[in-house]
Amino acid sequence: MRRSHLFLKTRKEISKEEVSRNAQLLTRGSYVNQVMAGVYSYLPLGLRVLTKIEQIVREEMNAIGSQEVLMPALHPREIWDVTGRWDKVDVLFKLKGAGDRDLALGPTHEEVVTPLASTVINSYRDLPQAVYHIQTKFRNEARAKSGLLRGREFRMKDLYSFHTTQEDLDTFYDRVMAAYMKIYRRIGLGERTLITYASGGVFSKYSHEFQTLTDSGEDVVYAIPGTTEVLGVQERFAINSEIIDDQEALRGILPNYQPGDEQKLVQHKTIEVGNIFKLGTRFSSACGLTFADKDGKPQHPIMGCYGIGPSRMMGTIAEILSDEKGLIWPEEVAPYKVNLLNLKASDATTTQAADALYDTLQRAGVEVLYDDRDVSAGEKFADADLLGCPWQAVVGPKGAEKGVVEWANRRTGAKQELPVGQWPW
Ligand code: ATP
Ligand code: MG
Repeated sequence: MRRSHLFLKTRKEISKEEVSRNAQLLTRGSYVNQVMAGVYSYLPLGLRVLTKIEQIVREEMNAIGSQEVLMPALHPREIWDVTGRWDKVDVLFKLKGAGDRDLALGPTHEEVVTPLASTVINSYRDLPQAVYHIQTKFRNEARAKSGLLRGREFRMKDLYSFHTTQEDLDTFYDRVMAAYMKIYRRIGLGERTLITYASGGVFSKYSHEFQTLTDSGEDVVYAIPGTTEVLGVQERFAINSEIIDDQEALRGILPNYQPGDEQKLVQHKTIEVGNIFKLGTRFSSACGLTFADKDGKPQHPIMGCYGIGPSRMMGTIAEILSDEKGLIWPEEVAPYKVNLLNLKASDATTTQAADALYDTLQRAGVEVLYDDRDVSAGEKFADADLLGCPWQAVVGPKGAEKGVVEWANRRTGAKQELPVGQWPW
């Protein structure tokens, strides 16, 4: 993509109202634009990052055998009355449709997916099933001051599973947990993400939250010391602040737990990037979803639900993987792998060399953002650092003459000169 054609304008400063680091950087880089608190437009680069995160989520959900569907955002009141949640969910956006009909904008989809499942589940032979969608959710959040971290309109992947037995749910639940950790690793948050015992399970004692360590987080977890330095399997587990006195959870993270050991735990600030629950039959019984078991007797499927937030993860990456100059995208989610800078667009030799490199890289299947504008080298370097593509390829008049390109790694700052046609990875 040529920068001269791109729907993007970087900014040195933005309104003081955007207090969070992710909103500051993503707005300055023209990745997103705020429409109101908690509501954003995604510009071309922002959409590329979001789409890549969602594609990784999709791949990992497909890999565990769940199937993608798409459910609506607009819900009739009746389905929320069936489960008794119309008046219980405080963040539910309610509106009036034609004929004064009560409607809601979906904050979650148990009320839609459970009746949907009854159209395909009749017998134990139809189970297990697992379906997910990646879709826009609406929650009337009281505080929406953290940029993409807390949207009133935001992206979520929600997966719902249906089982004949608790054991079958347990097995699938563990597979989802592993798939989630794989997603965090692929998007660059793996090192800092803890699996946290949390309250909020409906039919199980716990739900599990995935919490990413950062001082800008709104949540608090307790983990054993050393967690942030060396993350082994045991160190990956933490406890949410609501259940810090729970002996069973304490034993989960401190294998030889003795009363008083909780004093050894260290408190960390975190961002919740995912949450998985065992729902039991709470929704299947409310919605009348049944299957005939082997004896022909009707039973309610045992359900699990599994949420992950692509837009919040994008904000989390911006919060954590950035420096004073700007964003530092991990390769798998970067809008482009290479930001090619033509340092002297007014010079024919330099432009010829930069154009040629742009063609070569594209033919090699490399995603390139080509800064072909006739602006100062300083402006180009500052923009490239702000936008945060993993590699910067710099073509200047001297290099063009010698047939070399200077490559810089955005994360490490390491620079190297390579002949045209060679790249550093
Ligand atoms: P929180 O406690 O932060 O309000 P939650 O526990 O209500 O979140 P869940 O219902 O568990 O959220 O939603 C699943 C996932 O969706 C969360 O782990 C998070 O990644 C994402 N998510 C939830 N609310 C928001 C929001 N307002 N903006 C962006 N992402 C969100
Ligand atoms: Mg949650």
